[in-house]
Amino acid sequence: MIIKEIQTKSVLTKSNLPVSDYSVNPYVGCPHACRYCYASFMKRFTNHPEPWGDFLDAKYWPEIKNANRYCGKELFIGSVTDPYNPQEETYRRTRALLTQLEGSGVKLSIQTKSDLVLRDIDLIKTFPGARVGFSINTLDEAFKDDMDKAVSIERRLSAMKQLHDAGVRTTCFISPIFPGITDVPAIIDRVREQCNLVWLENLNLRGSYKADIMGYIAEKRPELLPLYREIYDGGSRLYWEALDSRIRDYAERNGLEYLRDDDSMQKPFDAPPVIVNFIYHEEIKKSAKKGGNTHA
Ligand code: SF4
Repeated sequence: MIIKEIQTKSVLTKSNLPVSDYSVNPYVGCPHACRYCYASFMKRFTNHPEPWGDFLDAKYWPEIKNANRYCGKELFIGSVTDPYNPQEETYRRTRALLTQLEGSGVKLSIQTKSDLVLRDIDLIKTFPGARVGFSINTLDEAFKDDMDKAVSIERRLSAMKQLHDAGVRTTCFISPIFPGITDVPAIIDRVREQCNLVWLENLNLRGSYKADIMGYIAEKRPELLPLYREIYDGGSRLYWEALDSRIRDYAERNGLEYLRDDDSMQKPFDAPPVIVNFIYHEEIKKSAKKGGNTHA
């Protein structure tokens, strides 16, 4: 892992994500090295010859002045990196960001695959309505190990519970959904008592990682290869339409609300989680905020 400290002019960026006004990435690169990483396109802009996952730049920015001007704005931390990657323990750039924004009234969303976020729980609790999302697209640790270098699913689930028990809103981001592998209802069954939102997002296979993932399926799950070819070579949406009705039925049976492209934050804390379908949201939602994927 090659780690550098870099100076940046600022750290907040106007966002085109469907869930935020600003995005913040305290690092460039991501050691979790997920094989399906949408954010790996960032490598093109970084002058890093190393593969995605093998480099990390820790950002240092001028202290945020007049943080109150962000009051009421939605701020998404971790759109193209994991703000709680293992090096955050040393560099504490995410913690620095939270400290600089403390008391500003900004609406905080943090997305992570790490339980290091628990270190900052007291700070996070000072942000009214803050929420922390955990990416969980499987309950099978072996599949997880094949796909990313982040902490185990059990550790993510445990961290989600600890935050939720502490009164922090949590999101289970079921992304990317691998056709035939990700068992969405089983994951929701596991998290429904400890999260406020469930987001669903499909696996996109664009760019350089398509061949890698298709090769993985061919080797490890050959019975699924025709399905993957139908979806990712043939452009079929049938799998996603069937999944949509399955989740709708599941939600109805379990008394859960199921929405499309609607990022609900308004429910009382103790209400059952709302399931939000963001499958192909970037094509379906033709709004001013269209176009972004978050890191998974
Ligand atoms: S998907 Fe997210 S956690 Fe995984 S490598 Fe990309 S930025 Fe990191």
